[in-house]
Amino acid sequence: MMPIPEIRPSEPLDFFDLEIPDAEEKIGALVGRKFHGASFVSFVYKHNTIDPLLMTSIPQSMRPILKDSVSASSLPIVRKQVSIDGTVKFLLGVHTEKGPQEIECVYIPEKTRVTLCVSSQVGCKMGCKFCLTAQLGFKSHLSAGDIVRQVWTVEQQPELRKITNIVYMGMGEPFDNFETVKKSTRILTHQRGPDKSAKRITVSTVGLVDKIDLLTKEDPFRLAVSLNCTTDEMRSKIMPVNQRWPIEELMASCRRYADRTNKRVTFEYILMKDVSDTLEDAKRLVRLTSSIPCKINLIPYNESSFTEFKRPSDEQIAKFHAHVLNHDKPVFIRKNRGNDIYAACGMLKRVNA
Ligand code: SF4
Repeated sequence: MMPIPEIRPSEPLDFFDLEIPDAEEKIGALVGRKFHGASFVSFVYKHNTIDPLLMTSIPQSMRPILKDSVSASSLPIVRKQVSIDGTVKFLLGVHTEKGPQEIECVYIPEKTRVTLCVSSQVGCKMGCKFCLTAQLGFKSHLSAGDIVRQVWTVEQQPELRKITNIVYMGMGEPFDNFETVKKSTRILTHQRGPDKSAKRITVSTVGLVDKIDLLTKEDPFRLAVSLNCTTDEMRSKIMPVNQRWPIEELMASCRRYADRTNKRVTFEYILMKDVSDTLEDAKRLVRLTSSIPCKINLIPYNESSFTEFKRPSDEQIAKFHAHVLNHDKPVFIRKNRGNDIYAACGMLKRVNA
């Protein structure tokens, strides 16, 4: 057998930040055998371990080299809070370009699926008035590896079920970290990697039209747009992004996206009392979405003492829902999960319940 060249990088390779073919190649190069790179990657995901010393498919002499040269750790769990409805909120430590920071992600178990809501940035620049993350301001982008590691870290918890669905609706505006977020979806869906279904990954944006226009059929995720208002006047007041891309422009880009990709768009619509919950809003919502293949999720606002917005009455929510439903739109009322631990939509801010 040829001697194994030891090409140790000055910095360990960040395993979870590498696209799968790249990981196979770079790790293979470390030990001078390409197929051992593939074997490493497959061992991680099939046997759920990141310790090269346990990788029986790799010769024993090579394992210490990999142990020293590949960094593949989980994210440290700073805090874990369990809601009465089974939702679990994780506060995780990350090392960003601006030093150590903390992010949140939320595990949401349901009968037939288990969803993880991941963060794409620490804090956020978008300034949506109803959102607690906005109050943090922007701190830093996350790397693709830190997004993948959120999934990996939660799946390491022995008491939790395997994640079937991933939504990019945690801290941050995913399309403000566009290439990184796309890279993370390619890693998560790769068949020789975590192998998550592209149909079960949803990336949500407040409406960065320039980025929506760059999406292609091949991007392995579904698009969700956080609409929340039906007039420019109101939307610009509570979502500053609307001043840059008003509703008509946003809807036109969604139409182009649906035509180009043959995928339908999900519109997220937060129902806020006296802001977005009137029958007039319901009528305008039907009109705005009429020519776009889509489904609509109505999200009754999660009240907190940190914002002035209120949840509409159950009666008003039912009326709004009935109006949209009567116009043959697939429309669903999303259940609020994890309110008691500040894990529900728009509540991620490092708040202790
Ligand atoms: S709703 Fe999303 S985009 Fe808007 S401030 Fe909150 S995290 Fe950012």
